Amino acid sequence: MPSRTAPCRRCLASLQSWKGGQLVICQDDDSGSTKCTRCRRLNKTCVVPIGPLKARATALAQALATANGGHTDAVKAAQTAVKKAIQGQKNAAALPAHKASDAEKLAATEREERQLIAQERLVDAVEKVGNTLAALLEAYEGVHANILNPPSPSSLGELDDEAVAEAGPAGENV
Ligand SMILES: [Zn+2]
Ligand SMILES: [Zn+2]
Repeated sequence: MPSRTAPCRRCLASLQSWKGGQLVICQDDDSGSTKCTRCRRLNKTCVVPIGPLKARATALAQALATANGGHTDAVKAAQTAVKKAIQGQKNAAALPAHKASDAEKLAATEREERQLIAQERLVDAVEKVGNTLAALLEAYEGVHANILNPPSPSSLGELDDEAVAEAGPAGENV
């Protein structure tokens, strides 16, 4: 049986910290089990890597095959990539969402909410400045009402005329 292109999580755990010597080989056998030979013999669950980890597991298996027993820079880089992917999955699993996709959605939602809050604060601040200016204008108008709207001579004359008109008939009646 050929070795798997993407080693299972158990074999991957061994391969990611490999520095030399005998390499673990993740392969299926003819037992009819869906487990790899190692997991089947250990009577443990055989977990197939998915998502970004699957691609990195495949890359590590290829790098190890190419290196042909050497702990090359390519192998080290592939091992680091696998470690990061596993750590990323652990971090995501530690979140209440339990799923990496949910964690990503959560992060995206939080980013959007932060942006919205920032925008709302800006609008608030602009409104406050506007309100302050309006209040200032009102106060200015109150203080300087006489300067802004001086009583016109004509209106004063009208008042006089009215006073005379009111006094006139009263005077006739007396
Ligand atoms: Zn395996
Ligand atoms: Zn396995």
